[in-house]
Amino acid sequence: MKKTKYIFVTGGVLSSLGKGIAAASIGNILESYGFSITIIKFDPYLNVDPGTMSPLQHGEVFVTDDGAETDLDLGHYERFTQARMSQKNNWTAGRIYHQILRKERRGDYLGKTVQVIPHVTDEINAAIMAMDGQYDIIISEIGGTVGDIESLPFLESIRQIGLLLEKENVIYIHLTLVPYIKTAGELKTKPTQHSVKELRGIGIQPDILLCRSEIPISLELKKKIALFTNVREKDVVSAFDVKSIYEIPLIFKKEGLGNSLLKKLNLKQKKDDSKKWQAWVTRANNLKKEVVIGIVGKYVKLYDSYKSLFEALFHGGVENNVSVKLDLIESEDLLGKPLDERFRKINGILVPGGFGLRGIKGMMMAIEYARKNKIPFFGICLGMQIATIEYVRNVAGIKNAHSTEFNSQTPNKIFLKLKELVDIKEMGHNMRLGEFSCQIKKDTLSYKIYNKVKIFERHRHRYEFNPRFESVIEKNGMTISGKNLERDLVEMVELNDHPWYIGCQFHPEFKSNPMKPHPLFVRFISAAKSNQTK
Ligand code: GLN
Repeated sequence: MKKTKYIFVTGGVLSSLGKGIAAASIGNILESYGFSITIIKFDPYLNVDPGTMSPLQHGEVFVTDDGAETDLDLGHYERFTQARMSQKNNWTAGRIYHQILRKERRGDYLGKTVQVIPHVTDEINAAIMAMDGQYDIIISEIGGTVGDIESLPFLESIRQIGLLLEKENVIYIHLTLVPYIKTAGELKTKPTQHSVKELRGIGIQPDILLCRSEIPISLELKKKIALFTNVREKDVVSAFDVKSIYEIPLIFKKEGLGNSLLKKLNLKQKKDDSKKWQAWVTRANNLKKEVVIGIVGKYVKLYDSYKSLFEALFHGGVENNVSVKLDLIESEDLLGKPLDERFRKINGILVPGGFGLRGIKGMMMAIEYARKNKIPFFGICLGMQIATIEYVRNVAGIKNAHSTEFNSQTPNKIFLKLKELVDIKEMGHNMRLGEFSCQIKKDTLSYKIYNKVKIFERHRHRYEFNPRFESVIEKNGMTISGKNLERDLVEMVELNDHPWYIGCQFHPEFKSNPMKPHPLFVRFISAAKSNQTK
């Protein structure tokens, strides 16, 4: 058993300052010193998990190996560290309350009044400490902004843990904003002062401040912030804007955060190994050429909806020494437009995952265009489903072919609900979620890419390819290149008479990492690059 130490990351002033990336960067630094870490995200909203929330509301739903539908920050944690996320790494207020209410109904509280303190806070404390002893350090990120009503029980919990454990085993890190006011030509510290005051008001004195700003914060200003927040000057870290998020752990280290962490937690570094990471960042910051990838999707209005996808494309680009320019195309907008014109500057087309009927027609048009014009095409989950439907319709000539998600009445059901016969009404719990194995067929493009016969990828979908149509697509020239053997499910398809055309039922983007870019993205970008030089 390890003696686990705890780091709590809170946020102030406003949301979207990059608390998730800050927590992930702290994890990255500690791993570079040789410590084992994990990161837990606490979200103050009442949904039990983000699985039923629209990506346009909440951003991408990140999926773990064990099938948890989680906040997108868990994607950053996996991309920045070696920690693998699971159900234990994401808690919402809804999930905490759900547990409490179940216990209450069971009579577990033995007639007591069930209250926020201590019952809700106890439950939160248990979630924070659930992995105690398994890691050197557990980092917990508290979602929301200090001052919100709904995050109060979480802040109260972390305050209690500070009392429970020795001082050298708990530290509080607060991420705040130091805005640059153009008209005054100055960085302003007042919002940070107020935010820390708020935090101290609920009994938490931050040990370290991460101050987000457009430009580096001067020593003089750090002194001022230190004075007003009761934080030591060298623990005021300037978290200024950088070219790529992957640079942040390096900047934090340069700013002295690594040393502050070690000192406060009374730890001695076992090594200091950021060389590989540094080399990757240098490469990523110096890409000369560019490829353009058209993303034909339905949530393109919100960049966060496809967070892992865009990161995976970026990783694939760096591996190919090109920067990936994203052309985000709202699929609905393609209807009635001349596609030649729209796709003229595009080197590869990607249709990502999604749910519901809106936008399907536009995706189908884009896929048909990519197929006929030999443009590298990558279909992920919904993208793969629409690609096979397009093929059955336009090549095999079965015009009304569809997925029952979009037309439940069609006699030619290419995709069916996993449990089509079971009448499932609840929105959650009826999907194929998490990691499944896939057997790759030899002598296929998929095999060339993975160079393996058995792969494991993460899933999040309700509909599956109908086995009745396997021979139909294969007879017409589409290869089924990957299958889940346990359940006999189609996982990957490809076309031979095309430079690069792959559809996969899973989400490879969840497994891409700067140190280990996903082969499908690496090869897709490489194909797009070749398409450019032709
Ligand atoms: N809507 C499709 C399904 O449920 C695809 C899901 C996805 O793209 N993640 O199967």
